[in-house]
Amino acid sequence: MARYTGPVCKLCRRENTKLFLKGDKCYSAKCPINNPRVQAPGQHGARRKKLTEYGVQLREKQKAKRYYGVLEKQFATYFDMANKKSGVTGDNLIQILESRLDNNVYRLGFAQSRAEARQLVTHRHFTVNGKPVNIPSYLVKPGDVIAVTDSFKDSSKCKVIAEAIDSRPLPTWLELDKEKLSGKVVRLPEPSEIDISLEVHLIVELYSK
Ligand code: SF4
Repeated sequence: MARYTGPVCKLCRRENTKLFLKGDKCYSAKCPINNPRVQAPGQHGARRKKLTEYGVQLREKQKAKRYYGVLEKQFATYFDMANKKSGVTGDNLIQILESRLDNNVYRLGFAQSRAEARQLVTHRHFTVNGKPVNIPSYLVKPGDVIAVTDSFKDSSKCKVIAEAIDSRPLPTWLELDKEKLSGKVVRLPEPSEIDISLEVHLIVELYSK
């Protein structure tokens, strides 16, 4: 199961936007993106070149991949799935990405970042509708209930998570039961509701070439 393991703030500097990859630091003044003089990574980072149409589309795709922690092959698979579904391809793509179990564990406040959520899911600390699921890319549906397993509830790590659960706002499309440490997917979000500006139509144009 491949994943990016390099420095994550560099990815935000490349995309020149917050991708929320590092937990608490992303919401603090220490986030490098808050510095108005922040540069793109690399020797020539100070000079941001004017991008071609293809370059703009590519950057939008990279931004989405990095935000959700998805590599190229899987992202292309999600695009194919979105394209085959009825409705607007871009909206379908965002809803598929948002349906990932690791994303929902993060959104519910059970992890500080999607990378941490992915690790917790892999370690079998969550159930979906009462059954343990250890696949971060598992796609949840409206009505599904994601819960912390009983064995993980007793751990010191889980106690830290429970104490910090209010530190991030809960999206309107999810319901959280803080006592039971479980959450319900009420619906899937629209692209306009997610917390980074993502021009999904540019990604659709890129894959449609
Ligand atoms: Fe680093 Fe988070 Fe800021 Fe991105 S949003 S630059 S990951 S602290």
